[in-house]
Amino acid sequence: MKRLIEPIGPEQERLVREETERWIRRAEEICRIDLSPIPVLFDLRGRAAGMYRVRGGRRTIRYNPHLFAKYFRENLATTVPHEVAHYAADLLHGWRNIRPHGPEWQSIMRAFGIDPRATGQYDLTGIPVRRQRRFTYHCGCRTHLLSTCRHNRVMRGEAVYFCNRCGEQLNFPGDPAIDG
Ligand SMILES: [Zn+2]
Ligand SMILES: [Zn+2]
Repeated sequence: MKRLIEPIGPEQERLVREETERWIRRAEEICRIDLSPIPVLFDLRGRAAGMYRVRGGRRTIRYNPHLFAKYFRENLATTVPHEVAHYAADLLHGWRNIRPHGPEWQSIMRAFGIDPRATGQYDLTGIPVRRQRRFTYHCGCRTHLLSTCRHNRVMRGEAVYFCNRCGEQLNFPGDPAIDG
């Protein structure tokens, strides 16, 4: 059985929020702008340790509580300023006018004294990773897992798939399955 890493608790969340605020004040000094406090959520799942999001004019920083639990110091030192640099670059230049990890973001990271690598490479063992939805199809000899995209094509009558072993058409009995 796979052992999953427990997400960080309230005490570590508090440290991450404090560190986020500290980097926001640092960004204000470096970029000479006012950055209001930003909602910090710990609801990110999957491979990314952090995410800066602008949706409907609402800005949030999201962190992955499982990846923070597994690599707490590294994420505190790199992911937190990484996301704050996105926030500062957004307010300075406008999110739509720049590439996420373009020169504007990179120059803020360098001013922070941090190597502007776009993503950390983490070993994801024990980290819950979003699984792609698959659909179980049957032919004459075995089962096949089709992607959502292919399944939708079949459902819309746009495509028919055949088994490359027995040559029979793949049929969908109606049971969605989850596959990693
Ligand atoms: Zn980024
Ligand atoms: Zn077959």
